[in-house]
Amino acid sequence: MFDNLSLKLDRAFKTLKGTGKITEINVASTVKEIRRALIDADVNYKVAKEVTDKIKDEAMGRDVLISVSPGQLLVKITQEELTKLMGGSKVDIKLSGDPAVILISGLQGSGKTTFTGKLGNLLKKQGRQVLLVACDIYRPAAIDQLKVLGEQIGVEVYAEPENKNALQIANNAIAYAKKTGKKTVVVDTAGRLAVDEQMMKEIEELKKALNPSETLFVVDSMTGQDAVNTARTFDERLNFDGVVLTKLDGDTRGGAAISIRHVVNKPIKFISTGEKMENLDVFHPDRMAQRILGMGDVISLVERAQQAFDEDEAKRINAKIRQNNFNFDDFLSQLEQVKKMGNIKDLIGMIPGMGKAMKGLDIDENSFKPIEAIIRSMTPHERQNPDVINGSRRKRIADGAGRNITEVNNLMKQFDDMRKLMKKMNQMGGAKQALGRMV
Ligand code: GDP
Repeated sequence: MFDNLSLKLDRAFKTLKGTGKITEINVASTVKEIRRALIDADVNYKVAKEVTDKIKDEAMGRDVLISVSPGQLLVKITQEELTKLMGGSKVDIKLSGDPAVILISGLQGSGKTTFTGKLGNLLKKQGRQVLLVACDIYRPAAIDQLKVLGEQIGVEVYAEPENKNALQIANNAIAYAKKTGKKTVVVDTAGRLAVDEQMMKEIEELKKALNPSETLFVVDSMTGQDAVNTARTFDERLNFDGVVLTKLDGDTRGGAAISIRHVVNKPIKFISTGEKMENLDVFHPDRMAQRILGMGDVISLVERAQQAFDEDEAKRINAKIRQNNFNFDDFLSQLEQVKKMGNIKDLIGMIPGMGKAMKGLDIDENSFKPIEAIIRSMTPHERQNPDVINGSRRKRIADGAGRNITEVNNLMKQFDDMRKLMKKMNQMGGAKQALGRMV
């Protein structure tokens, strides 16, 4: 996400030379570079100009502290201005009414149905009783798609595949939600490939009749400036409450994320970074600005980890580590959990400074495959008792996994080092506890 923009901005900041005061002369070319980087990333020209003018005004005349370089100061000012541009602070969705209704709108292919599933998943994790409603009456596949997602996340889906009246389906769904005690209803609607009058009328009617506490507009960020234009058209008709930006994991230049709030004047509420149900983040303008500037986003990383990691499993593993009993089954289970957190490259990009370092490196889930194949080629006894894995067993494991013996040896060595480290940590913990008892 934003790899190119981050790289170009980084280069721009490096052009700012000298120390002491930032002056018009030394800042002018850097600001020009920033503007160019933003426009290249598909940020609306007017927005790019406005924000860089502000950055310049802010920077002018500021004393540069001894501890920071003018470049660093400009990074900070840029981060502040980008944050403001994207809305300042996060805005939550409103959930009121019984049931609370959330209406999902957007063009076909924008990721509405996928997002409906993701939102259901998120709300369920927050302890809400959720009902998803399939109102995409023109695309029968969308109904099945939502049903599959619902099953995957354990959330009920209401559908009437034979009924072609979206309003009727939605009303029936709400009555059903009331009867079954579902407090939150998320309504997926029909989209078209382009804005069209009938679609607009239909969704307008739905909104009027359902009186949702939240209407969200879903848009594919890969469509660049079009995303901003479509948002404007939908907003004129629907007066929606918030934007969901999807496909930020792809080769997007990110401009939509930066300019949409400013142009439409409606907050971005969620961003979607992949096809999996877990690939959804609440939008925080400050964290996004940090990410754009390659400063990383550790907070979102931790939040994702909290969502993906099963707490009971974490406790179990912790106990095994404490008993010096960590084995290959545990290792495999940890790998599964890491994979659930989403695209590995994206995750690494959230670690400060790592985005740049990882540029061009091809890491994905498949990187884990050889390791998994090797572990799965071990017998249950071997996985639970790694010490029994001698030379001949290693050869058999390598053959079974279709890998070579060196790879098996490397994995065994890494695993051994990891266990030694765990042991050492346990001993240190023990020493600390002993010390605690003495004082
Ligand atoms: P709808 O027509 O608006 O309901 O769109 P869908 O939910 O069917 O999504 C269209 C396609 O985009 C599907 O193949 C989804 O798997 C994919 N998709 C949705 N969200 C994302 C995302 O954030 N990242 C990526 N890479 N693909 C996505």
